[in-house]
Amino acid sequence: MKVSINGESCWQIIDTLSQGLIVLDRNLRIQYWNRWMAQHANMDLASVVGRPILEIFPGLKEKGFLWKVNTVFSLGNFAFFSQRLHQSVFPLAASRYLEAGFEQMQQNIVIAPLRGTGGKVERVAVSVIDNTDAAIYRKRLEETTGQLQRAVRIDYLTGIANRLHLFERLKEELARHLRSGEPLSLAILDLDHFKRVNDAHGHLCGDHVLAETAHLLAGQLRAYDLIGRYGGEEFCIVLPRTDMDTACSVLDRLRVKIAAHEFVHKLVRLAISVSIGVASTQHRERIDSQDLLRDADEALYRAKNAGRNRMECFVPGPPGSMSPVSPNRGATG
Ligand code: GH3
Ligand code: MG
Ligand code: MG
Repeated sequence: MKVSINGESCWQIIDTLSQGLIVLDRNLRIQYWNRWMAQHANMDLASVVGRPILEIFPGLKEKGFLWKVNTVFSLGNFAFFSQRLHQSVFPLAASRYLEAGFEQMQQNIVIAPLRGTGGKVERVAVSVIDNTDAAIYRKRLEETTGQLQRAVRIDYLTGIANRLHLFERLKEELARHLRSGEPLSLAILDLDHFKRVNDAHGHLCGDHVLAETAHLLAGQLRAYDLIGRYGGEEFCIVLPRTDMDTACSVLDRLRVKIAAHEFVHKLVRLAISVSIGVASTQHRERIDSQDLLRDADEALYRAKNAGRNRMECFVPGPPGSMSPVSPNRGATG
């Protein structure tokens, strides 16, 4: 079936579109814009027809609009402005989107050639498509994804890295150590007799002590060190570019600092101590994260057995044996 539509009906149909349509001649004068454009630019057709588009939207020049329109006239191709790259080519208001941070309507633009009877491009049709809703959804999705990515790596109680983040960083730092040969040290810190804190003062008090311990420890580290919550009342500290000797002096300072700190929760005043096991990549060949954690855990076990509030360093010896060497500076036992 052949449908014939005369010129007047054609413009009426174009006026029903829920997107902007502008027809420009070779001098970039407006020959037509539809009702949608009249509403969103707040200028009716009669007031713009015959006027150069740049007179109405001078900012188009900076947006590269002229260059794109000229390629359509000369090459007869289609040209586009994507919202993701160009956001808002036409300065049309988007007041209902202000709360999402968009002052102007976000648009996709298509510039299409309109040919005369001889096939020459005589006019271009510019479609202005409101993409603000999609831009808002994308922006919110990116924000939420960013928040989730951060949340999934942070321990809720203490605000430091959680086990997932800790292991990721440890693996990264070990890979760096393998490339650069620089030493890497790792410590496990375990609060002493922590169960007694919970039993005597309740879990909320225990939670407070855990959070404050994490805060105290984190405040003493360099920007490229990492502290994470390894388990219930156990923390791990990764010290990149740090040999065993340096790690031991840093960590024993932390042990002394915790022991000297007065923890206060409501009316309860508490003294807390930590035991620390330290391991290092030094004198170990192709050590992986599990090896390092096992070494540090073994040293921690020794610190606990030796009376707590102590630091022990793992020194590799024959399989199954622990080195008797233990720097254990300043331990109070
Ligand atoms: P040790 O010196 O041998 O390490 O003794 P400990 O009492 O610290 O060790 P134990 O493993 O017997 O108890 C650990 C306690 O830590 C028991 C557990 O309820 C508590 N704990 C673990 N996670 C949390 C937490 O998130 N909040 C609180 N309040 N307590 C926790
Ligand atoms: Mg423990
Ligand atoms: Mg403990």
